[in-house]
Amino acid sequence: MGKPHLPAHLNHIAWNRKILNVFWVVIFVSVCVEVMNSFLTLKPIGEFLIDYLVVPTVLLILTTLIAEYSFRTQAKYVDYIIIGAASMFSAILISVHSEMYVMYTSLFFPMLISTIYFKKKKVWLSFVLSSMIYLGISTFHPVAKELNDLMDQLSMICILITSTAICIGIMSRGYEIAKHLNKAQADHQDLMVKSTIMEKQVKTDALTGLYNHMAFYEYMDVLLLQAETYQYPVHLAVMDIDNFKKVNDTYGHGIGDIVLKRIAAAIKDNVTNDDFAARYGGEEFVVILNDINEEEAFAVLEKVRRVVQNLEHPEIEEKHVTISVGLQTYRAGMHKQAFFEGADNSLYVAKRQGKNRVIIQECNSAMQI
Ligand code: GH3
Ligand code: MG
Ligand code: MG
Repeated sequence: MGKPHLPAHLNHIAWNRKILNVFWVVIFVSVCVEVMNSFLTLKPIGEFLIDYLVVPTVLLILTTLIAEYSFRTQAKYVDYIIIGAASMFSAILISVHSEMYVMYTSLFFPMLISTIYFKKKKVWLSFVLSSMIYLGISTFHPVAKELNDLMDQLSMICILITSTAICIGIMSRGYEIAKHLNKAQADHQDLMVKSTIMEKQVKTDALTGLYNHMAFYEYMDVLLLQAETYQYPVHLAVMDIDNFKKVNDTYGHGIGDIVLKRIAAAIKDNVTNDDFAARYGGEEFVVILNDINEEEAFAVLEKVRRVVQNLEHPEIEEKHVTISVGLQTYRAGMHKQAFFEGADNSLYVAKRQGKNRVIIQECNSAMQI
């Protein structure tokens, strides 16, 4: 497994903006501190203005403007330019106040900033820049070279190396956490996919791909509740293949299965996506039809019956197999058992009257083809 990717929202653009804002804050604070310094130390105003305020402030602003420009134009090396600018800040602050040891801590600015980018080579680059700045100033600056001997230089380089190692350690820890998060996210997605597949498998009939008996009852409970609440019509059709035992007995169970699957597909293809088709068991199917009136429901089922009748089954000599359908419309307050029995009774009537027909029984009157 390669290095984990950090999340997209940890993007450079937002972070570079924050870093540049910090640059401007540092400039403002340095001006305030210099002004305070001039009052406290009572330095001659002319010399102070040029050496401590104007020159360093102009240089800091120029450095920041270059970084701003590369940020706004989204220059390819904007990260490196910002690290370079942070190094320039450090160089300017130390040069101006080389007698103040505390200023040398600004050598850590570029290293800390480069850690934000989570790239080891950027941390190493800032280490090299900070070392060069320190060695350059402590060797050539007239005041600094008096204050820093060889031991100071060696010690400072050791401190910078240690700090670089710590920055890289922080990044490695970050990678570790990101890797863990990536794995947890991948595991979670995997689990979601598996549970979705399993949920579908649990509700699907393996032979026909229609919903199964259990899914039918689950759906009917929800649907009847909705139908009661929103007052829209619901119809239930129970279907049974005619003389199917004969098909099995004559041609075998395997051929029977092929015929069964073909009929199931025809049922599914001839109801709308709003309707619900399931294999109730054996060679019996159920269809729930929503939000259409009784005549329309009858017409849909009549079409299904006709399509099934016209299906060709080359595996059997008769070539055609028919279905009988019993239909029941849901009446307010009806128990779901009565709803099902109504449709089943109609199916019984359809069989008794000669099969291959749709029967709907309503208020003692029967509608049939
Ligand atoms: P009827 O017109 O009265 O419905 O007559 P029928 O022969 O179809 O009678 P019934 O509905 O009782 O027949 C059910 C038969 O369906 C019994 C069994 O052989 C067959 N059957 C049930 N499930 C399957 C199945 O999964 N595959 C196959 N091949 N046959 C099945
Ligand atoms: Mg049957
Ligand atoms: Mg049958």
